[in-house]
Amino acid sequence: MLARFTAGLFNIVEWRKAQKKLRLLFGALNINYMRFRELAEYFDKIQQVQSRLKMTGIIAEMLQKTIAGEIELAIYLSQGRLGPGYLGLEAGLGEKLVEESIARASGFLRKEINEKYKELGDLGLVAEFVSSKKKQQSLYREELSVKKVFENFEKIAKASGAKSQDIKMKMMAELLNSATPLEARFIARIPIGNMRLGIGDPTIMDALAIIHSKEFFQKEKKEVEEIKKSLKEKKEEKRKEELERKIKFRVRELVEEKYNIFPDLGKIARMLKEKGLEGLKEVTISIGIPIRPTLAERLSSAEEIVEKIGKCLVEQKYDGFRLQLHKDKEKIIIFSRQSENVTHMFPELIEAAKKQLRARQVVVEGEALAFNEATKEYFPFQVTIQRKRKYEIQEKAKEFPLKLFLFDIMLLENENQMLLPLEQRRKTLAKILKEGETIALTNSIITDDPKKIDEFFEQSVEQGLEGIIAKDLKAKYIAGARKFAWIKLKRSYKGELNDSVDVTIIGYYKGRGKRAQFGLGGLLTAVYNSKKDAFESIAKIGTGMSEQNLVELEKMLAKTKTEKKPARVESELEPDYWVEPKYVLEVRADEITKSPIHTAGKANGDGFALRFPRMVSFRADKKPEQSTTTEEIIKMFRQQKHVQIEGEKVEQMA
Ligand code: AMP
Repeated sequence: MLARFTAGLFNIVEWRKAQKKLRLLFGALNINYMRFRELAEYFDKIQQVQSRLKMTGIIAEMLQKTIAGEIELAIYLSQGRLGPGYLGLEAGLGEKLVEESIARASGFLRKEINEKYKELGDLGLVAEFVSSKKKQQSLYREELSVKKVFENFEKIAKASGAKSQDIKMKMMAELLNSATPLEARFIARIPIGNMRLGIGDPTIMDALAIIHSKEFFQKEKKEVEEIKKSLKEKKEEKRKEELERKIKFRVRELVEEKYNIFPDLGKIARMLKEKGLEGLKEVTISIGIPIRPTLAERLSSAEEIVEKIGKCLVEQKYDGFRLQLHKDKEKIIIFSRQSENVTHMFPELIEAAKKQLRARQVVVEGEALAFNEATKEYFPFQVTIQRKRKYEIQEKAKEFPLKLFLFDIMLLENENQMLLPLEQRRKTLAKILKEGETIALTNSIITDDPKKIDEFFEQSVEQGLEGIIAKDLKAKYIAGARKFAWIKLKRSYKGELNDSVDVTIIGYYKGRGKRAQFGLGGLLTAVYNSKKDAFESIAKIGTGMSEQNLVELEKMLAKTKTEKKPARVESELEPDYWVEPKYVLEVRADEITKSPIHTAGKANGDGFALRFPRMVSFRADKKPEQSTTTEEIIKMFRQQKHVQIEGEKVEQMA
């Protein structure tokens, strides 16, 4: 057999036969072997069909052809990935390098490749075209297996260091050299992450449901009987179709349930391939694997909320990043709402989690937002979003440290908490959280009184927050779905403040964190009440100032510090330092709101405030008495156009 095999190497027909035999042998031994050409042919078919149903059918057939160990590779590659989405593995081979690899493998000039790309608009088609018109033929063409292609891409992804670009291109060219034109089309698309097949996770789940429906029918007799009883169709043929549909739906549900706590369809498919539906039981929540987040429903009033879920936990709704934090002893992993690993972006949260989470293993969830320690105010989302960055992470972390408000716990010391009622989870969460500056529980109340909910809502909005989220105390953690476990009540109106406002500085707050070096962290500002000749507080401002602004402001303000509140100043807030009203700033804000903490136009306990104020410029040309007046603010508030969010109703307030 060995002699025949060796002789066959010199004869391409024999070689192919030998490969076929090997394949059978490998298959029997469970050694991975599927030709990439087969996969590429399936991809081509998928690309050509227009009906989703047909596409799912083809994917199911394709996945059935694979063996365990290969199925996950086929799934990842079909989505232009090198692993599950949450790992975010990338080949690190951009369009330019792919162009270069195509040139190297084909003998075409880089310029020619680039021109073809401009003409065709898809590097996959370029690779296919040049592969069919190769100027140089490689001496040895290896028949590519799915595993070989995948492994080369893994190596491409891992290559690092000075020569990494060259290594990446070499490996890419090696694949393209061995590829048929059709294979080349898809190989060139993989590193770009765009397979142009439109296969999403739901499509893969549907395909897995098709594959395992028969097994469900054969094994789950009791449940199948139940389904049969629920059938509505009368005619035999139609009943059969309905039964098939319902079984497929049920299997899909089983797969999705697991996907929601373990979003790696490659691994799930492999478990299914190896052990059938039984294999799903082994899929559990695990440290380091993101759980898909619960989603909130929407209702428009506190009354409706109470009617729907009765006594509930009402939490403030923060406008920041939703983060899922996994702690395994000293190791911390942070996932975003989209299940991306964002650990490196939040060094202060990693440190805080190590100190404040009293558990060896835990998975918790919360919302993080930038918080101005100087003014004790939440920063608007525009500031928090600056923390989502690749560079200057440490600097920004010092400038805008985040505060994380925890609202749920899913795993504790290897025990799944998701099925326990929220009331219990919340208690556990409180127990494991040590007091500290960075991580806190969400502010909340428990009530079944719509009035209390409304008050809490107003209070939250005044603090610059988005609104509230009411949560069903009895509900389990519903991964990946929206099922009235959470109900949000947001500000239904979004103001438009077209005009900027000129305000006078009446005091300032010491800088903390990175701003300590400037001696200034925020400003207390006022508008001018011309009738009373008084400066009435309207906003604390902590954004919009450059470092240079901060230095200049501190220098100027230090010279006008006063020991006590100046006589013409009316303010219930106490800054670290009062200053003589002298300097005017132009500020922009999202809108004017009512607020009990500011004195501008105060009547019946409420004054006016600027929501999310940010500095635009110094107004050296203006005197404090030329700032915007209280009367103007009242007028602006009245004229403020209120546009209901999410395109419902547009209303003009008188
Ligand atoms: P929305 O994005 O408007 O559907 O509202 C839901 C989002 O609000 C969640 O995904 C979180 O990112 C965020 N959020 C803010 N505060 C909370 C809270 N206390 N509980 C749950 N989610 C919150």
